[in-house]
Amino acid sequence: MSATRKVRVRFAPSPTGALHIGGVRTALYNYLFAKNLGGDMILRIEDTDSKRFVPGAEDYIVEGLTWLGIKFDEGVGFGGNYGPYRQSERRDIYKRYVDELLAKGKAYYAFDTAAELDAKRAENANFQYDAHTRMQMNNSLSLSAEEVQARLERGDVYTVRFKIDPDQLIEINDMIRGEVHYKSDVLDDKVLYKSADQLPTYHLANVVDDHLMEVSHVIRGEEWLPSTPLHILLYRAFGWEDTMPQFAHLPLLLKPDGKGKLSKRDGDRLNFPVFPLDWKDPVSGDISKGYREAGYFPEAVINFLALLGWNPGTEQEMFSMDELIQAFNIQRCSKAGAKFDYEKGKWFNHQYMLLKDNMELAATLLPELQAKGIETTQAYVAEVLALVKGRMNFLHEFWANAAYFFQAPQSYDEKTVSKRWKDVSAMQMGELEAILQADDFSDMAALEAKVAAWCEEKAYGMGVPMNAFRLALVGEGKGPHIFDITRLIGKAETLQRLRRCVEVLG
Ligand code: GLU
Repeated sequence: MSATRKVRVRFAPSPTGALHIGGVRTALYNYLFAKNLGGDMILRIEDTDSKRFVPGAEDYIVEGLTWLGIKFDEGVGFGGNYGPYRQSERRDIYKRYVDELLAKGKAYYAFDTAAELDAKRAENANFQYDAHTRMQMNNSLSLSAEEVQARLERGDVYTVRFKIDPDQLIEINDMIRGEVHYKSDVLDDKVLYKSADQLPTYHLANVVDDHLMEVSHVIRGEEWLPSTPLHILLYRAFGWEDTMPQFAHLPLLLKPDGKGKLSKRDGDRLNFPVFPLDWKDPVSGDISKGYREAGYFPEAVINFLALLGWNPGTEQEMFSMDELIQAFNIQRCSKAGAKFDYEKGKWFNHQYMLLKDNMELAATLLPELQAKGIETTQAYVAEVLALVKGRMNFLHEFWANAAYFFQAPQSYDEKTVSKRWKDVSAMQMGELEAILQADDFSDMAALEAKVAAWCEEKAYGMGVPMNAFRLALVGEGKGPHIFDITRLIGKAETLQRLRRCVEVLG
């Protein structure tokens, strides 16, 4: 590979359903790798398996990655000079390359029916279609040239298989795993093309496209590692060794307890999303929950995913996309699987909420408040947020944490009442009311000092009267500093809540 080769990576999903969060991480690492090196990022849709094609999946992938801020330079929906980027639109191209392998004697026609193959497997559970068995099968190596010609002419269904020579050593120089060796004997003569649907299989289309699209680095999940020796042999068969991409196989995402591969069921069981957006499978009707709808900020999801399998080598945890691009180095990806610590995902969301501008957050909350019939302003919501967001991981937790800033408590929490509302409380609240009445609420620190002086003078201590006061304002024992609450709800509302509480609790 020439040292000056332009960095070009691709994300190549198959549109078979919702894009799993592991796929999102693959897209992210490709993006970070490319942008760190000033390269291009391609979106290629690998839709040659018509049986597994799911309508809507392609749009879902694009929408999900766009929401997360992962941008493509080229590809389906983005233009570029190497298109078309949807494999189903490249049939003619693949056919040419299949024909080239056939002409070179690197591939052959196979006429074995599914039933015949099943029979072989029934005979021998370890059956592999390869150099040792291919002459027992019906293919252009075992049949006479006339027979093959006749079968092709009468339109028999066939596949084209890759003729893998045994005893070849295949060395993968993986950017994460280092040298990985394979012997070609373990590989079978993979099907590259099927006449039935006139489509190539994943392996052929993937390699041909990586070559034609001048992909310099293939960064993909660990589950594709077993395919890579085959892909390398295909590069050799075509004579493309000089432009073969470099490979990197990313570590698996593991279940939160580290035992096995992360699945949708783990998400359902432990209540966290494993997909970027909500998705309803059009065939099964299965609902998959998405990070977006669960209330995650895209920056938080990116930051969380970036650190699942990669580390910067420092203690830094918070990274913007630009900082990730700067810091990313694929050599710092781990070989070992990464445990999916979804609590950490919530923590990131919390951190991003703290960083975000309260006026901006308030704007997104206003419609929900208006729908509840609450009359308020963006500025007021922003002030409330400043007081309560430290207790929230998600914006949808706002109302549960802040309702009392907008409406008087509808009831008083029983437990708090029995603990905090004493015999003396009604009397004390009466005295407090007089103090508040006499104040203009223009200086909360001054008012707080007055209240403290009153408690001191009467030797009430601060606890009993302040707990009762909080109960009157909030309806329970929680919430921020009392005089931050009174500052926001104002004098009239404070007095009204105090009187009502005395009335109700006596
Ligand atoms: N179409 C494959 C997938 O769905 C692509 C694997 C690769 O990146 O080569 O992940």
